[in-house]
Amino acid sequence: MCGIVGYIGKKNATPFLMEGLRALEYRGYDSAGIYLSGRGVMKRAGKVEKLATALPEEFRATAGIAHTRWATHGPPIERNAHPHSDASGTVWIVHNGIVENHAELRDALAKEGVAFSSDTDTEVLAQLIGNYYAKGGLLEKAVSRALRDVRGTYGIAVMSEREPDKIVVARLGSPLLLGIGSHEYYIASDATPLLSRTRKVVYLEDGELAVLTKD
Ligand code: GLU
Repeated sequence: MCGIVGYIGKKNATPFLMEGLRALEYRGYDSAGIYLSGRGVMKRAGKVEKLATALPEEFRATAGIAHTRWATHGPPIERNAHPHSDASGTVWIVHNGIVENHAELRDALAKEGVAFSSDTDTEVLAQLIGNYYAKGGLLEKAVSRALRDVRGTYGIAVMSEREPDKIVVARLGSPLLLGIGSHEYYIASDATPLLSRTRKVVYLEDGELAVLTKD
C-alpha cells in the first residue's frame, strides 16, 4: 500500500502534489503518476524524481490527484502506474489497497466489450466507475454505485473530465485524510504531506465518501 495526494482550490496543484509524493516516498514505492484537471496524465516507473523531471512547466491546473504505487497486481511498469482511467479516458482514479474480486469484475466488463490497458486491480475499479458514469448522473453516484460491487480495501480519489472541478474520495480499510484550507482542500493517505499546509484535518472513516470542490 502506498501513497495518495490530491488538491482542489485556487492555486496551482502541481507543487503540493509533487511535494506530497516526495513526503510519502519513505513508505517505499515502484512508480508514480499525476493527473491534472484539463491537462491529462503523466506516469513514470521508478523514482518520483523521474516523474518530476518529466513534467513540463505548463503542466499546471487548480485540481489534481497523484500516486506512488507499491504494486500488488501487475508488474511495476509505466502502464500499471496510477492514475488509471476508464476506456474513454473520462474517469481518473488513484487507489491504495486491493480489489479482491478484480478477476470476476474484469471478466464481466470484458464481456460487455470493455478494453483494458493495464494488469492492475485498480483499472477494474476505474472501468467499473466509468461504466456506471456513462449511463448518466454525477461522478459521486457512479463511484458509490461501483463501490457496492467491490470486495477488498480502498482509499481512492477520483476525478472526471466531465466534472473537472470536483474530486470524489472514499475509503474502506485504507487511510485517507482531508486537509481543510480556505477555499482549498488537500487529500493525503497519511498526515505527512499535510503538515506544511494546514492543521485542520478530517480523517475519513471506513465506508465514508466525500465530494470536494474548491467551495
Ligand atoms: N493494488 C493496486 C496496484 O497494484 C494499488 C497498490 C498500492 O496500494 O499502491 O496497483
